[in-house]
Amino acid sequence: MKVCVVGGGIAGLSTAWALCKSGNQVTLIEQGPLPNPLAASGDEHRMIRRGYGSADGYARIISEAFAAWEEMWRDLGRSHLARRGVLAMSQNPGDDGEKFREGYDRMGEAYELYEPKDAARRYPFLDPATIRYAYFTKAGGALLCQRIAADLARWLGEKGAALKLNAKVTAIDATKGQVRLADGSHVTADQIIVAAGAWVLRLIPELARRLKLYRTALAYLTPPADLAAAWADAPAILDIGGKAEAYMLPPVDGTGLKVGAGVHKRPADDPDANRMPVSGEGDTLRKLLSPPLARIEDYSVARVVTCAYTFTADEKFLSFRKDRALVVSACSGHGYKFGAAVGRRVAEAIQTGDDAGLLAWLRAEA
Ligand SMILES: Cc1cc2nc3c(=O)[nH]c(=O)nc-3n(C[C@H](O)[C@H](O)[C@H](O)COP(=O)(O)OP(=O)(O)OC[C@H]3O[C@@H](n4cnc5c(N)ncnc54)[C@H](O)[C@@H]3O)c2cc1C
Repeated sequence: MKVCVVGGGIAGLSTAWALCKSGNQVTLIEQGPLPNPLAASGDEHRMIRRGYGSADGYARIISEAFAAWEEMWRDLGRSHLARRGVLAMSQNPGDDGEKFREGYDRMGEAYELYEPKDAARRYPFLDPATIRYAYFTKAGGALLCQRIAADLARWLGEKGAALKLNAKVTAIDATKGQVRLADGSHVTADQIIVAAGAWVLRLIPELARRLKLYRTALAYLTPPADLAAAWADAPAILDIGGKAEAYMLPPVDGTGLKVGAGVHKRPADDPDANRMPVSGEGDTLRKLLSPPLARIEDYSVARVVTCAYTFTADEKFLSFRKDRALVVSACSGHGYKFGAAVGRRVAEAIQTGDDAGLLAWLRAEA
């Protein structure tokens, strides 16, 4: 089958990977370079973890996500998962840190539980006076996104896929199976996979009722010199507790120490607008980390990156069929970790025609 994949984020690249493996003739079109630093998948790293708070459906299918990455590492000839494990902490009863722990309990997921002083002894960047407890799980860590994209692009080229980079799709004729590019050329295919991330509404405007666009930012921090070694070995931090919805990724293999926070995201109209960080934005993110981080004033902001992404109302992933086009969005701020698994599932649905089964799986309701 001839399949055209629009978008070279993790959803598009992984779908192209799985389609190539099952013998399809794949063309992947990406409006920027690969990796594209403006894509949600274009950052240095993203977290993978088993903890899913109250979203038990995704906690149930997370094993498939881990297994799909292992299959991808075998194909690429190396792993891009830094297996640091995952730490979380609670500051107040009922906060997100506690909800993630309750999720582990419901799923029967093993974790090590630490009293505040024990946690600060293991992780000296924590202020023990500000947490009720911390807990650690071995599974998970940081997925090295830019390296994954570069390796997948290489692998796809070797397998004969056509990669059209810096090539923007301006329109999709789903009935004819035709994709029009900004240079006036066309690509025709039996099936079109639209994995356009935050830009999808430009191509498929009817999804505006189901997908809301947001802009956010992530800050890369330089820790004080005496805490650098502690961070160099640190796990991913799933949630810092309290109200910030903040998470952190440690420096791994040349990447930076990063913070992001759910409370920092804002509704947006255009995925390309406001992509320059605002003055002081990094400091705003840095300050969200205290509590529970000790000595937050001793950290400096090395740089800030902005991101655009879409959310569904219930924060589940989405697929949408329009004639020969299948739109896929592993959205709502938690889709990277499922990237390889999404690719496999989309490729399977293209073969079987089971769009309903795909949607049920993407919504973690299968
Ligand atoms: C700040 C932030 C933190 C996150 N943290 C995590 C995390 O820790 N763990 C996790 O699992 N998930 C996380 N996510 C979510 C995750 O990053 C996304 O779910 C995932 O990267 C989405 O991948 P995608 O391929 O669907 O979209 P994208 O990565 O945005 O890719 C879409 C691609 O399509 C291309 N494109 C769009 N329109 C066109 C066009 N017309 N023509 C050609 N190409 C086009 C774009 O250039 C882009 O490369 C986070 C998201 C954000 C924003």
